[in-house]
Amino acid sequence: MKKINRRQFFLASGALLCSATSAQALWPFSRENDKIGGPADIRGTIFRKDAPETLWKWHKEAIFYKKLKNEQVRCGLCPHRCLLAPGDRGVCRSRANLAGTLYSLGYGNPCSVHVDPVEKKPLFHFKPQSRVFSLAVAGCNFRCLNCQNWEISQTRPDEIRHTELFPAEAVTAAQKSGSRAIAYTYSEPTTFFEYMLDIGRLAKKEGIDNLWISNGYINREPLLKLCRVLDGANVNLKSYSDAIYKKLNGGRLQPVLNTFKTLHDQGVHFEMTNLVVPGYVDDEEMIKRMCGWILANLGPNHPLHFLRFFPQYRLDRLAPTPISTLTRFRQLAMSEGIRYVYVGNVPGHEGNNTYCHNCKKLLIERRGYTIPAYHLDGNQCSFCRTVIPGRWL
Ligand code: SF4
Repeated sequence: MKKINRRQFFLASGALLCSATSAQALWPFSRENDKIGGPADIRGTIFRKDAPETLWKWHKEAIFYKKLKNEQVRCGLCPHRCLLAPGDRGVCRSRANLAGTLYSLGYGNPCSVHVDPVEKKPLFHFKPQSRVFSLAVAGCNFRCLNCQNWEISQTRPDEIRHTELFPAEAVTAAQKSGSRAIAYTYSEPTTFFEYMLDIGRLAKKEGIDNLWISNGYINREPLLKLCRVLDGANVNLKSYSDAIYKKLNGGRLQPVLNTFKTLHDQGVHFEMTNLVVPGYVDDEEMIKRMCGWILANLGPNHPLHFLRFFPQYRLDRLAPTPISTLTRFRQLAMSEGIRYVYVGNVPGHEGNNTYCHNCKKLLIERRGYTIPAYHLDGNQCSFCRTVIPGRWL
């Protein structure tokens, strides 16, 4: 019998047309090589029955998925809702269907581990200058053309150099490093949800904060579960246009907006980041609409960071964002009513600093990741006693 590949199967069965929200509808690249054990799988032995025990312990059964007929599974973790036949990986490359069970790959196997200042996340209203133990497992559910960390986000957990660090060890390592928080960051932490949640629960018991640095592309049910251990988040609002989300990031806008509303309703401290990519995300009217949505749905107190773009990955021929654009967007967002608006990736810009929204005095001066001046008493402006939103020292 003539063998057909998965794409041909879907085309033949019409499955590509059956759901406007399916991962395939958004998926701009071929997944043929993502088949486990396929030509691009450099460690096809992982799923063989005779694979060494050590390989198996790096995978954990996923929490949010449904088993379907013919050993198919539907992942429920993010809005792609991938439908996976046995042997398939999801869009994120870090979840796979093995004989009708969905596994999270790379559990306990971070590919990046560092200690960073919290300002690097960026989080400017969360325990300034604290050390953050930061880790990532390879994988991402987006395909941003401008990805800064594509070496780890656009690859598979089993394809990249990694270290073994199970949840209890991660918490101990964080404590030893003098960190007050653990950040799930660099790649897309939603795709290593089970590992993040297990570390988060242990960290919470030890009085360590959990920080989620994410694209916000997650379904409500898993997010609510995550919120129980979260202390802070920085979530990317990549643009305020569904068309640009599809073109630039391989996702959709509305699920990200839903994430912001859930975080807000759950009382999680979060800050928003918007990378101003020239030609994609630099339309003033769009920024105005974005600010309008933020004010109407989240209020004026969640900090917003406009970041300067530098050429990289598939957009390596674009020029960096003009600093004047970032300055203009900051002024626009503040004049619309957002109280704390920052400019990032521009050293020395006044938008690096925090000013009291009431008396306008300088509260926190930042130079790189250092703070030469700090004028907060607890959570209050030390000049006019206004309460400044955030989680302070
Ligand atoms: S988490 Fe991965 S496998 Fe699950 S729906 Fe999202 S992209 Fe697909």
